[in-house]
Amino acid sequence: MNTKEHINKFKSICIGCGVCAGMCNYISMVEDEMGAFIPKVDELKCVNCGRCIKVCPFSEHSKNEDEIGYLLYQNIEGIKYNWITGYYLNCFEGYSEKHRYNSASGGLATKFLEECLNNGIVDEVLCVGSDTGKHLYKYVFINDATDLKKHSKSAYYPVDISNAMKKIRNENKKFAVIVLPCIAKAIRLASLYDKQLKNNIKLIAALTCGGLPKKSMVEYVALKNCISINEIKKLKFRVKSEKYLNKNCSMQIITDNKTITSRFHGDDFGFVYLNRLFNHLACNCCDDIYGECADISFMDAWLKDYDKDILGTSIVITRSKIADSIMKEITMNSNYIYQVSIDRAIKSQTNVGLVYRKKKSAYYKTKLYKLLGYKVRAKRKMKVSILRRIIILIRACQELYIQSKSKSLWIKVQNREISIQDYDKIMSKIIKRNKNFLKWRKL
Ligand SMILES: Cc1cc2nc3c(=O)[nH]c(=O)nc-3n(C[C@H](O)[C@H](O)[C@H](O)COP(=O)(O)OP(=O)(O)OC[C@H]3O[C@@H](n4cnc5c(N)ncnc54)[C@H](O)[C@@H]3O)c2cc1C
Repeated sequence: MNTKEHINKFKSICIGCGVCAGMCNYISMVEDEMGAFIPKVDELKCVNCGRCIKVCPFSEHSKNEDEIGYLLYQNIEGIKYNWITGYYLNCFEGYSEKHRYNSASGGLATKFLEECLNNGIVDEVLCVGSDTGKHLYKYVFINDATDLKKHSKSAYYPVDISNAMKKIRNENKKFAVIVLPCIAKAIRLASLYDKQLKNNIKLIAALTCGGLPKKSMVEYVALKNCISINEIKKLKFRVKSEKYLNKNCSMQIITDNKTITSRFHGDDFGFVYLNRLFNHLACNCCDDIYGECADISFMDAWLKDYDKDILGTSIVITRSKIADSIMKEITMNSNYIYQVSIDRAIKSQTNVGLVYRKKKSAYYKTKLYKLLGYKVRAKRKMKVSILRRIIILIRACQELYIQSKSKSLWIKVQNREISIQDYDKIMSKIIKRNKNFLKWRKL
């Protein structure tokens, strides 16, 4: 298959990361009607080199996380492997007192990146920060550690990395990047073909991921509050408040004269995010929860011990020696961070259903997607009983149906053919009907 065919056929399972565009001057990232980034090839200039296919994290022609992990970590002393987390060295749990309130979880990601800059391990950190332009978020380069906390918290929002990749490839500096698991994989794949990129990126940090929504998720919450997406001046997620538990995550929409906060429990944000109504299709086909191709991964401690936690606690997995030694040093100088068993990381994501939804289901789901004609890479096979396989396939069909219905209705909302209340009414009914269908089987 040539490059143009690949990109065109692949659009539906593209995560919109922009790594292909970062590696090729003839691909640019554009927004589709749902506010997802998709690659656009300059057909007159494309020479069919096929590089974009090789670096795409979901492409049939790319390596899987185990194969990349083996290349990266096989010779590291003390490296271990777990089928849920992939390769790992150590696991840590706790928080940074200084960063916690202003961070998504326990603030360990910001603390770690600060240490990378302060110790001269890297010259610049690439992270995600607010954008005053129409995209609301963008990748930003930081060289002063004190600036990092301005960019803490999680962006549950699409961000295009292509221009930042081009800068990293063209400069003689050492970089740390913080990205989602699929982008960590794409950068590793790109590094196999680009020596400069490989040399310049000293550290890849990943955020554990349950799925990436499109911009239309924000548009939905805004519209429900009578705000048009163009009025939004700033968007924030995971804003903390003493009145709410950390697990009741928030989205905050800020306009010139209003601030709207919507939460997981009983609010519009929870309705669309937890039902994955605006997620990328690619997320349905993903079996990497933890960012297995990254040197280090950060996640929420979704554990019973922290059920009443207001400020948030982090769990961290290390895979490279450098990341591990930085975390050990941070741990040594803190009373609130401990080295723990990897089971804590597994439990934290099992508790929010991710191990079942991503790790155990992806192989069977991608088989179904292939049958439906999608060109997606087969995922790693996890053995599950025949009954579970059937349930996985039914759920995969339900997920596809719900998401495609949500998309078609949303386009009608945008075209003012139906109201947002109509969208709500129809989607609530569909979700309820689909949930009831498998209610007898608690899995
Ligand atoms: C889409 C998405 C889904 C997630 N799903 C889960 C989940 O299911 N389970 C779980 O345990 N954790 C999940 N996380 C991670 C979690 O929200 C926290 O980001 C993580 O625990 C780190 O918290 P912290 O307090 O250590 O980070 P902070 O100190 O708040 O620092 C976060 C760092 O990440 C960067 N960043 C934020 N958003 C992005 C982004 N979209 N892409 C790249 N870099 C970014 C920021 O610039 C900052 O440097 C998800 C995050 C995202 C963005």
